[in-house]
Amino acid sequence: MELLRRKVIDEGIVLGQGVLKVDSFLNHQMDPVLMREIGREFTRRFNGEEITKVLTIESSGIAPGIMTALELDVPLIFARKQKSLTLTEDIYVEKVYSFTKKETNEITVSKKFIAPGERVLIVDDFLANGEAAFGLARIVEQAGGSVAGIGIVIEKSFQPGHRLLQEAGYRVESLVRIASLTEGQIAFVEDDEV
Ligand code: 5GP
Repeated sequence: MELLRRKVIDEGIVLGQGVLKVDSFLNHQMDPVLMREIGREFTRRFNGEEITKVLTIESSGIAPGIMTALELDVPLIFARKQKSLTLTEDIYVEKVYSFTKKETNEITVSKKFIAPGERVLIVDDFLANGEAAFGLARIVEQAGGSVAGIGIVIEKSFQPGHRLLQEAGYRVESLVRIASLTEGQIAFVEDDEV
């Protein structure tokens, strides 16, 4: 996706330890026009899949998630990272290890929002080791639903998330794929390598 690739080149900042900072358009300030285009692109890529809901994780997944849900004309659910005060029997809970924060979070989704048989598209801002996507997929499956696909805004292809998700049988679509972030430089996976 050229618009997104340009944004990553122009505004992405490489931090140490393989982390890309994109807080000018995705993780803090958000670019609504870019988000709209991301929603359209996921909708185009998953055209033909039956999708009844979009599921993401707060907070940076919400913007691409809601624009995708808008295009697909289905609801968006975002998994919460904080425990809510509702009874634990009313929620699905999964443990997710955060690559950037180096801590394990419990993510939760209310049972009332995913019904058995639901076809859920998972959307997230980044894919690194696949922890967040696997946690969301486990929640969908606990609910008796199935994963229609996984849409990722920025994939760091030098980490194993994409491969692990694919090996587990999930269809992964990433809008840009980063091959490396060494010495402050962003290198992309070329399209013919994808
Ligand atoms: P994973 O769960 O696949 O290991 O990591 C994905 C999650 O960690 C995303 O939800 C995202 O919040 C965060 N993340 C992983 N790598 C990066 C990165 O390089 N930059 C930013 N901004 N977030 C990242």
